[in-house]
Amino acid sequence: MKVILIGAGISSAIISLLLRRQYGPAIKLVVFDKGRSIGGRMTTSFDSEENPHCSVDTGAQYLTLTKSNSITTKFFQQLIDDHVIELLDKKNTIGIRENQDKIDYTAPRGIASIVRYFFEQAVVEMNLSKHITKIDFNSTNDKFTISNDKEKIDEAEAVIVTVPVPQVLCQLKGSIAQLIDQNKEVKENLSQIKYSSRFAVGLFYPSSVTNLNIPWRIYYVDKKEHDCLRFLAIDNAKRNKNEPPFSLIAQTSVEFGAKHIDDDKMIIGEEIKEKIFQFLPELSRDISNTKYHKWKYSQVIQSYPNQPGYVVLNEHPLLMLAGDSFAAESNFEACIQAAIESVKKIHPLTT
Ligand SMILES: Cc1cc2nc3c(=O)[nH]c(=O)nc-3n(C[C@H](O)[C@H](O)[C@H](O)COP(=O)(O)OP(=O)(O)OC[C@H]3O[C@@H](n4cnc5c(N)ncnc54)[C@H](O)[C@@H]3O)c2cc1C
Repeated sequence: MKVILIGAGISSAIISLLLRRQYGPAIKLVVFDKGRSIGGRMTTSFDSEENPHCSVDTGAQYLTLTKSNSITTKFFQQLIDDHVIELLDKKNTIGIRENQDKIDYTAPRGIASIVRYFFEQAVVEMNLSKHITKIDFNSTNDKFTISNDKEKIDEAEAVIVTVPVPQVLCQLKGSIAQLIDQNKEVKENLSQIKYSSRFAVGLFYPSSVTNLNIPWRIYYVDKKEHDCLRFLAIDNAKRNKNEPPFSLIAQTSVEFGAKHIDDDKMIIGEEIKEKIFQFLPELSRDISNTKYHKWKYSQVIQSYPNQPGYVVLNEHPLLMLAGDSFAAESNFEACIQAAIESVKKIHPLTT
């Protein structure tokens, strides 16, 4: 059997891994993503070729495990055993909430390394820079065909879409849109899914800068302290590498994100950069590069009712929507649980 997964984020990676475990070599997994790299919102952005070891996590920052959750603990343990994650050091951090039942982990090689790790374990065919705009039912062979703006790209007897639902509704045309339109309840539930928005700015430093003059590694900025900046981290130190090349990540409040969501990310990014230097006057300005990111769909603030983990739009051939739009929360642990539910549903439909 062949399965196409649209989206190369963590939900797609874990669904792929679970499908591989269930079906072994009998399944072909083909992934498409519009981006140039693997990770989705668990992405790591690198400086230029001249400074290749300098990077920042622009989306998700660290992973949180609920100790009492025996299911997700297995995934975390595998990542620990294979040295993909390690404990987040809370020394010199400001504002991280403590919870006796939670443990935080950091990814020393960048948060995207976690997604890459699961895709590698799953053995998938990865196709990047492929923006899918259409999914159509092909009655001649009973498969779904996926296309971009120019041409048909591929087809399979099962297609799983892990794109945030607001993007599905505005971007994907063809049979997928008709199937959603025909099911009034599903359509209504999908249209209520909402995401917050944020901007992120990454500052990269050359190896010659050996001290940023900042005493903390992570700083959750209180609303009363700043109306725009909400999360700051010396990214290399967050990953337990307190040595050059240094990098800093700043993420804004969701209120600031909502206010500027239609504005140009470069203009707003420059504004945020100035705010960082005003807020941290002692911070070194000797940067080699800056990257700006607008997270229009950052984290789910209203998910699909009852968080089923997925929605099936068509059973045979299978067309499923999955990802954090259907999860209990917008984080790694909830994506694992939603992926498990998706695969439980896929299995009986494909055997
Ligand atoms: C700023 C920020 C901070 C966060 N902090 C944390 C944190 O600290 N800890 C934590 O656990 N979680 C955090 N999260 C949430 C976490 O990143 C998400 O819940 C998780 O990454 C969602 O994964 P996903 O695979 O469901 O979706 P995504 O990662 O969004 O994957 C969907 C993929 O689909 C692709 N795509 C979209 N449209 C198309 C198309 N038409 N054709 C082809 N490909 C398409 C996208 O490029 C993307 O790669 C944060 C998120 C953000 C944005």
